[in-house]
Amino acid sequence: MTTYKLLLLPGDGIGTEIMAEVKTVIDWFGKRGVASFEYEQDLAGGAAYDAHGKAISEATMKLAQESDAVIFGAVGGPKWDSVPYDVRPEAALLRLRKDLELFANLRPAICYPALADASSLKRELVEGLDILIVRELTGGVYFGSPKEIVTLENGEKRAVDTQLYTTSEIERIARVAFDLAKTRSSRVASAEKRNVMKSGVLWNQVVTKVGKEEYADVALEHVLADNCAMQLVRRPKQYDVIVCDNLFGDILSDVAAMLTGSLGMLPSAALGAPDATTGRRKSMYEPVHGSAPDIAGQGISNPIAMIASFAMALRYSFGLVEEADLLDRAISSVLSKGLRTGDIYTEGTTKVGTKEMGAAILAELDTLSA
Ligand code: NAD
Repeated sequence: MTTYKLLLLPGDGIGTEIMAEVKTVIDWFGKRGVASFEYEQDLAGGAAYDAHGKAISEATMKLAQESDAVIFGAVGGPKWDSVPYDVRPEAALLRLRKDLELFANLRPAICYPALADASSLKRELVEGLDILIVRELTGGVYFGSPKEIVTLENGEKRAVDTQLYTTSEIERIARVAFDLAKTRSSRVASAEKRNVMKSGVLWNQVVTKVGKEEYADVALEHVLADNCAMQLVRRPKQYDVIVCDNLFGDILSDVAAMLTGSLGMLPSAALGAPDATTGRRKSMYEPVHGSAPDIAGQGISNPIAMIASFAMALRYSFGLVEEADLLDRAISSVLSKGLRTGDIYTEGTTKVGTKEMGAAILAELDTLSA
């Protein structure tokens, strides 16, 4: 039986509450006997700043490098608003992404049938929705140089950001998207702005070439990023996997995510390149939401985004697809029974706290696997 090493970094605020719930889920899967999970827990974000004066210590980074997956809660809060910029809680996330070279961000948008009415779109447009946005995370306009604001001779200011991509950066993110599509319905839509951006022209050419030469069995379509945004709110179910650069991915993944409801429901993954000998990728799984200081410590946060992030780890890091499906089904089924944390509560449903939601998901896992 394979043993996987996990590093749990709860972080701050509700991070610790939701991590406590996902731990019970990890233990449940450990007892099931398909794989065993060893985990260590450590500090990140404001908690690490309080203990070590920085957002993540070198010892914690070493544990992250040695782990098969990092399971990350959330960091930040008003307590650390005035700490120096380079040691602010969010620096932990950036350091992990950079050092582990996590260049592929996966953001699924899944509409649980029980929550279809909570979407801002009509039920028939979102019911059964299951799309995956694959966003390039370490290149593009957020990192390209020059990046500056300069004062011109006439006293005016000029701001410059540089959108920059190389062939290899596009190839590796395209491969992630094509590989994932093969585990789903074998369709990829690549979104760029080739009509007005040189980086869009290269993106289009490289994705086309990778698709043709390495993934002839996956259907590839190209869509202009602005049209893609429009299509996502018009007819989202036409898509399966969407691949895009850092900037468009930032926007399109938020649009797609919001089709399906609350922040407390949204998982994400960040993957690195596969290791040449073991084939394993460095990876980090985390909810999309932050540390929610407004509700921290009250035991009312929604643990589903965190637990669904572990389901992604089962699926994408450990290849335990049946287990991932089982966990996703347990979440869906608890929602169908009407259990809701405050963020997704509607009249006629049963309001529960963080622990009750976690316990209900465990009970559902027992029932579904009996
Ligand atoms: P947030 O995501 O923490 O909260 C936004 C709103 O959504 C709040 O009203 C919150 O109560 C609610 N919410 C979020 N997650 C929830 C959950 N699981 N259950 C129930 N309700 C939930 O965003 P914010 O308030 O803008 O930021 C708070 C702190 O988190 C800031 O310090 C910010 O920098 C940090 N942050 C961290 C991350 C991260 O760690 N990845 C991401 C975003 C924000």
